[in-house]
Amino acid sequence: MKCEIVAVGTELLLGNIVNSNARFLSEKLAELGYDVYYHVTVGDNLTRLKTVIEQGLDRSDIIITTGGLGPTDDDLTKDGVAAALGLKLIPHKESLEKLENSFKLAGRHMPECNLKQGYIPEGSIVLENNNGTAPGILVEKNGKAVILLPGPPKEMMPMFDEKVYPYLKAKSEFIIKSKTLRIVGVGESKVQEMLQLIFDTQDNPTVAPYAKDGEVHLRITAKCKEDLEADELLKNMDKQIHDILGDNIYGYDDESLEYVVYKLLKEKHMTVAFAESCTGGMISGRMTNVSGVSAVFMDGIVTYSNEAKMKFLNVKEETLNKFGAVSSETAIEMATGIKRVSGTDVGVSVTGIAGPEGGSAEKPVGLFYIGIAVRDKVEAHRFLFPSSREKIRWNAATRALDLLRRELL
Ligand code: ATP
Ligand code: MG
Repeated sequence: MKCEIVAVGTELLLGNIVNSNARFLSEKLAELGYDVYYHVTVGDNLTRLKTVIEQGLDRSDIIITTGGLGPTDDDLTKDGVAAALGLKLIPHKESLEKLENSFKLAGRHMPECNLKQGYIPEGSIVLENNNGTAPGILVEKNGKAVILLPGPPKEMMPMFDEKVYPYLKAKSEFIIKSKTLRIVGVGESKVQEMLQLIFDTQDNPTVAPYAKDGEVHLRITAKCKEDLEADELLKNMDKQIHDILGDNIYGYDDESLEYVVYKLLKEKHMTVAFAESCTGGMISGRMTNVSGVSAVFMDGIVTYSNEAKMKFLNVKEETLNKFGAVSSETAIEMATGIKRVSGTDVGVSVTGIAGPEGGSAEKPVGLFYIGIAVRDKVEAHRFLFPSSREKIRWNAATRALDLLRRELL
């Protein structure tokens, strides 16, 4: 079944607010197995609103609007929908009473204009608003449905979940379920190459790759009549992909890399400390995104200058002179140093050239080394990712977290 989202509000067209309602609704509709072919945004203008709803009725089975249900003159959604459907707006007794009561309870006089919130297109169903004054509306005509929801997300989202979701679920022939596999350490084209056969033969479930912040996310989506059938399809595809990509997959759905690192450290009863140069504290910052991380993350030092590397981490002056600050030798001494001064099980270091200046033929921008010292073993890894300063620093932090993860596996 085809569904269309109509966001109403001149604020949206002017770029004053982001259309987060459309994002929310689209995600829910996909989950419910509806095809969303159009997102429309229209200003607070009756003629254009009516036209947009008429267009929607031509090409979609269900239209969901958000916004423009309030009491003021620029709140015109109901008028536009009623006009497009050829329905009159009539008073709805309970809504009017509820409105009057809510003003009475607040000890305020109800302005005349609020009365219009108690009017609905004839024959429609009222969706009670437990978080505001404007009720939502569901109206069906000629096999089509138009659903009007308020604009404020705090009112719209619970109304959708409580009232609209069950209605749409009952109407839908399919359910859609998806799962995201999060991959780090291999690039998008490599993933594409490794999974070519799967991409070539996929149908249900579908598999789609997205490159995101130095990682690759694979979204597996199954469309079925039964919940269990969808679960089975997802599980089988997950297994097939795992067989090919193995440990390059670090987590599912909303799990972040830092969260997975935290979980592994906790499982192994191990602690970690970081010595950062070009990442300037980014790794420590990302670790502290995770609640409860203090159980495993002890220290993070930013040793940006050579002096700091010597003073805080005991990196030797001759190492810096002979090999330079960006070298595997320095990365190793930084990792060993941070592990010793912090008394942790693991020490991780990063040193690199984030650019745009400061590169040379021998040590170009985008070169970085990551050192890992675990118990009495220490090693350094070299990476070269020429890119913008911001991306190089983010990638270096990601690689450091990933190397730590692989070390812990
Ligand atoms: P109200 O009773 O508050 O007037 P309403 O249903 O008339 O609600 P609007 O007046 O269109 O809705 O919008 C009210 C507020 O809701 C906006 O200022 C904005 O903060 C938020 N809002 C409206 N539409 C959207 C949208 N598509 N995405 C995110 N937020 C929105
Ligand atoms: Mg309004």
